[in-house]
Amino acid sequence: MPSPPWWKPASMSKTEPNRTEPNKTESNKTGTKRGAAKQRARAERRFSGIAVGQGVAIGQICTAHEAQFEISTRLIPVGGVNAELARLDRAVEQAKAQLFKLRQRIGLLPEDSQQEISPLIDTYQHMLGNSRLLRQVRERIEKSLECAESAMTAEAEAIAAGFHASLPNPEATSRAADEVREIARRVIRNLTGTPFRSFSNLPKGAILIIEELRPAEAALLNPGQIAGIITAEGGADGHTAVMLRALGIPSVLGAAGITSAAHKGDTVIVDGTAGKLILRPSSASLAGAKRAVAAYARERGRLAKLRGLKAETLDGEAVELQGNLELPLELPLLAQAGAAGIGLLRSEFIYMNRMHAPDEDEQAEVYRNVVEAMAGDPVTIRVLDWGGEKDISSLMPDAIQSGQIEQNPALGLRGIRMLLQHPEVLETQLAAILRAGAFGPVRILLPMITNAGEVREVREIYQRVVRRLRRRADPLPDRVPPLGVMIETPGAALAADALALEADFFSIGTNDLTMYTLAVDRAHTALAPLYDPLHPAVLRLVQFATEAALRMHMPVSVCGEMAANPRYTRLLLGLGLRSFSMNASALPRVKQVVRHSNINDCIRLARRVMEQPDIGRIRELIAGE
Ligand code: PEP
Ligand code: MG
Repeated sequence: MPSPPWWKPASMSKTEPNRTEPNKTESNKTGTKRGAAKQRARAERRFSGIAVGQGVAIGQICTAHEAQFEISTRLIPVGGVNAELARLDRAVEQAKAQLFKLRQRIGLLPEDSQQEISPLIDTYQHMLGNSRLLRQVRERIEKSLECAESAMTAEAEAIAAGFHASLPNPEATSRAADEVREIARRVIRNLTGTPFRSFSNLPKGAILIIEELRPAEAALLNPGQIAGIITAEGGADGHTAVMLRALGIPSVLGAAGITSAAHKGDTVIVDGTAGKLILRPSSASLAGAKRAVAAYARERGRLAKLRGLKAETLDGEAVELQGNLELPLELPLLAQAGAAGIGLLRSEFIYMNRMHAPDEDEQAEVYRNVVEAMAGDPVTIRVLDWGGEKDISSLMPDAIQSGQIEQNPALGLRGIRMLLQHPEVLETQLAAILRAGAFGPVRILLPMITNAGEVREVREIYQRVVRRLRRRADPLPDRVPPLGVMIETPGAALAADALALEADFFSIGTNDLTMYTLAVDRAHTALAPLYDPLHPAVLRLVQFATEAALRMHMPVSVCGEMAANPRYTRLLLGLGLRSFSMNASALPRVKQVVRHSNINDCIRLARRVMEQPDIGRIRELIAGE
């Protein structure tokens, strides 16, 4: 059983990329066999997966390259040894945490793949313990004053050379040498803050095919460059899917089998709307896909005309349609879509793909730019939702040092829980948001709230930060920005009336609400059919929280992916919701539905849906709309 392509240890060369090349094994026994195999290899093949990004893309397959890093050969000053050793320790701890997660992830692979990969991870973990490699790297730092990355490179090469001299079997030699180089590369990437893969050099218009794309990696993608994304792993509302939707890249996640069937340079059609893939399409399939691309462009043109029109129902009910922002590059897209402000700024991007957390000035600058770009429309900034899938390396070392490697990240130190344990991170962010609030209306949103005590605790910190900024005579908004909570856990939804006494507004996060209510990982490929916000349990929680807010005359909106799905708009309107926040590309379609809806019809639909205990029947009711 060959290793999955993404696992192939790469050489340590600074220039040679780690290509996730597909398996190219073909019969070569006889000419006929070779011909038949070749033909089979060229034939059209169809795959399906989870539909994530809107639209159809046609392009050539490319694979991801590892980001390159420079290995410094600098010497450290004599007094700098302890600091350098500490730097090395942090990078090693980070690598351990990465491997820990990798081990968790391989638990999803077939048994025989696990059996093959597990010993390799054991080897890596051993090398990150009290190994010869690390002992000698430390010695080089202490005695020869080499910097950590240069000591690591030299030592890995010395050990690899030793294998060549001592191991009789060339295959075993090169495997052992690869292993030591691979672990050295991982530590050096952490030392240098080099991301694990680079997407910047992919050919324009290519379709990226990759085993798994992490949210932080998705944040590195340029939608102007990549025409489509295909992954073998991933679920409908995982953060990677959220990012890809935001970027408007046609994507199909969790497409089993395609990574091994595809060859670099093959043409592929990605239907991000239907979740279908056609590899090496026939000319008929290609012609059909070209028609779909053209139809999609025409539809976008039609939807663009809605930009200047009001989001108002046929019976004159105004609906607020705002944008979700994962990355600053979406700002122009939100403007094009006619978003009435930002209902959810996921601030994680500011912390991603870097070694150190951003300070107050840097954050204030980022928020100010967004606030100014929205020119008077409100911007709701959610404080850092660290944890779960969103492991942010700039904050990793701290968390690890305090022994907080998560066994069960989704139920662990995520969102507000992490911030309340690290109030300095929260204070910095609150101060930066307050400063940006001097340039336009802002609101502050708290993630992963489960009880009213957390809101009270944050409010105390918030008031302290306000007082500090006033003492510093920083320009602040005239009125202290409202503090809202995400309703994204069953606990928060069921305690909505208690939370409504503490919070200034609610934002319903249906992604996590669905995940935690149904106990289904939102990014889990195999469980994707079970992850459905139309489940009556989820809908009842949405209804309960909405009604709690409406009774208190408190603003309430939906910012999870449910708000972005035009098929759910009427149901949500019927439940009493009038404010939705979504990715820019979804907004025109939702507006179109709003403009063709009548509130009384929506209320009737919601009643029928809420009477139904059966999810299948609910799906039919929604599909029949
Ligand atoms: C949600 O959970 O619905 C939400 C909007 O937050 P995120 O997707 O960032 O977890
Ligand atoms: Mg959430």
